[in-house]
Amino acid sequence: MEIFNEIEPLRAFLRKKSGANVSVGLVPTMGALHEGHLALIRSCKAENELTVCTIYVNPTQFNNPSDLDNYPRTVEKDTALLIQAGVDILFMPPNSEMYSSQQSLSIDFGTLDKVLEGKFRPGHFSGVALVVSKLFNIIQPTRAYFGQKDYQQFQIISSLKEELKFDIDLRSVPIVREVSGLALSSRNQRLTDEEKKSALLLFESLSHAKREILDGADFVSVKREIEAKFDKLGATLEYFELAHKNTLQPFDRSSSLKDAILLIAAFVGDVRLIDNMLLFEEE
Ligand code: AMP
Repeated sequence: MEIFNEIEPLRAFLRKKSGANVSVGLVPTMGALHEGHLALIRSCKAENELTVCTIYVNPTQFNNPSDLDNYPRTVEKDTALLIQAGVDILFMPPNSEMYSSQQSLSIDFGTLDKVLEGKFRPGHFSGVALVVSKLFNIIQPTRAYFGQKDYQQFQIISSLKEELKFDIDLRSVPIVREVSGLALSSRNQRLTDEEKKSALLLFESLSHAKREILDGADFVSVKREIEAKFDKLGATLEYFELAHKNTLQPFDRSSSLKDAILLIAAFVGDVRLIDNMLLFEEE
């Protein structure tokens, strides 16, 4: 595996390697890698001749400084995992390589970044879009891989691709979960054993609500029930919503449930977790 910390040597290497017919797949991550990331890498390797993984904890997408400070960093373990997974290139830039000044561009996604994550983490998606645009420009991949775990992020990046005319195929990879149902996340490393059990309430709430809604229950009453469960556990529910899977606006009962998705964010202790579930899995 070739490791780069700077843009220019990476570009030169890619120019040499990628002739007209060499497909390049990109897997952007923030490190502290787990099986979820490895699923993205496996999909990428299956479809591309060269797999580039990036590890960069992007400061502009953190609206909470302590979340940025506490974000797990496990570079040595990550590097070993990526070698084992057969990644060709690892790009790990320092901040000075990615941002040239304190001034940062900002991008507005209209209604899409005003709901759910965007509502609770102002500026988050602008930071995500900015760093993804930079990575797309630096690496110029044929395809880029993202997890369904960050569902709204994928919608944002799809919109970014449309608006900025990136000629890149975007791929969404299903959520990888523990046997218990807990969605894998780098942030899970910060949970105590007890908190990990409490964190299961996110998946249980999604599964329960999905069953109830498909059986004809009203979302508002299901939501009330779930809010009560979080209260009882002493965990802070930030949002629990039923939304349209493309616009992420509140679900309108005149639409088909085939277009509905449940999304949740909650604090367990001081760790913020997110998860989601489509009412009907896509083929
Ligand atoms: P992160 O390092 O958390 O920024 O995640 C990097 C990529 O991995 C993003 O596209 C995430 O959506 C994806 N990802 C994170 N957790 C999972 C998971 N449990 N299953 C599938 N993809 C995931």
